[in-house]
Amino acid sequence: MTTARSVGAAGVGGWLAMVLLTVACGSQPTAVPAARASGVTALVGGRVQPSPDAATIADGVVLISQGVITAVGTRAEIAVPPGAIVIDCAGTTVTSGFWNSHVHFTGLAFQQADLAPADGLTEALRAMLTSWGVVHAVDTGSFLDNTLALRRRVESGEIPGPSIRTAGSGFAPVGGSPYYIWPARLPELTNPDTTPAAVNGSLDRGADVLKLFTGSWARRDLIVVMPVDLVRAATDAAHRRGKLVLAHPSNSAGARAAIEGGVDVLVHTFPSELDRRPWDRELPHMMIERKMGLVPTLKLFPSELRKAGLPANVIETVLGIARDQLRAFAEGGGQVLFGTDVGYIADYDPTDEYVYMSQAGLSYAQILASLTTAPATRFGAAGRTGRLAIGFDADVVVLEGDPAGDIRALARVRTTMRAGRVIAGRM
Ligand SMILES: [Zn+2]
Repeated sequence: MTTARSVGAAGVGGWLAMVLLTVACGSQPTAVPAARASGVTALVGGRVQPSPDAATIADGVVLISQGVITAVGTRAEIAVPPGAIVIDCAGTTVTSGFWNSHVHFTGLAFQQADLAPADGLTEALRAMLTSWGVVHAVDTGSFLDNTLALRRRVESGEIPGPSIRTAGSGFAPVGGSPYYIWPARLPELTNPDTTPAAVNGSLDRGADVLKLFTGSWARRDLIVVMPVDLVRAATDAAHRRGKLVLAHPSNSAGARAAIEGGVDVLVHTFPSELDRRPWDRELPHMMIERKMGLVPTLKLFPSELRKAGLPANVIETVLGIARDQLRAFAEGGGQVLFGTDVGYIADYDPTDEYVYMSQAGLSYAQILASLTTAPATRFGAAGRTGRLAIGFDADVVVLEGDPAGDIRALARVRTTMRAGRVIAGRM
């Protein structure tokens, strides 16, 4: 454990700081409302990366008060106020809390989220998200009422967890419910006239975004593509209410339907071992022109294909196509949003995703942007989070090591803070 000490630990303020400090050093993040309740917390001596495009501050200081960042700078510039809780961050990198823009709260551990014991839900959130630095999660498909119940308990402060935006169940084309969620079936969009009512119904029930399966794995050997007029009817309905539309593409035809139909974000790259033709290289440019976002989910492909028993050469080819698609999109300046499809895939460790993204040519700064500034911008939160800046929410991750030198360090999370509260890890 790193040392954390209270400065000027005399009098009532010092006593309070010591009590809070004791709590903060415990291993149970459920018991750590510390930073929000205290005066000032100072993260001192780390390599501070205020944002992906800002210069790194060696031996930096971040001050946090009342859940908000109050100072960011060098140790020489920033005076740590007496009585502050000082956290020694030497050897770490301190940056903004991460987003995972493709998750699912469909696992057993999240069921009956309205009634389930808080400890179990906390542990499930920690295992899947918060222990990997995730402070903001975009749920791209789950049981809407259940996810809203989970979010209520997180937002009440009962359960330490990330902010959650949810798509609810999403919509499939006719005959296009994904085979892998069987026996569950998704609602289908059948014609453009009835589509707005279906979309409005989902948004009325509390969905924050709309999810479409514009290309859907109806069977292991069949991808059903949603007709573009249906995609358009759905995106128009969502956009009229100011809501974003996310799409699951599956292959080039499914991606094209999403792009031509006005979708905002593809939640996967779209390599398919079923495609008999080369992937459609026009698509990344069309996406960039339309200012779309892309969640690569590269690790998903080897994970799925291994499960299906496909040989290593096929797996490498499909992953290679996904990397090429990401490379073409990122090189053209497209907005990449980090996401791993956890909750669908059971291996929560994002290390491989970072490695694959870097193999696709993305720099440390680009990968960090996909975790912070890009999703904050896409999901309308860039005025409050995504950077370490004065007045911003104290959404902070403390990483062991330096991800600029080794991208895997993005997965070595010591501490995750949301609005100044430690939601995973330790101080
Ligand atoms: Zn998914």
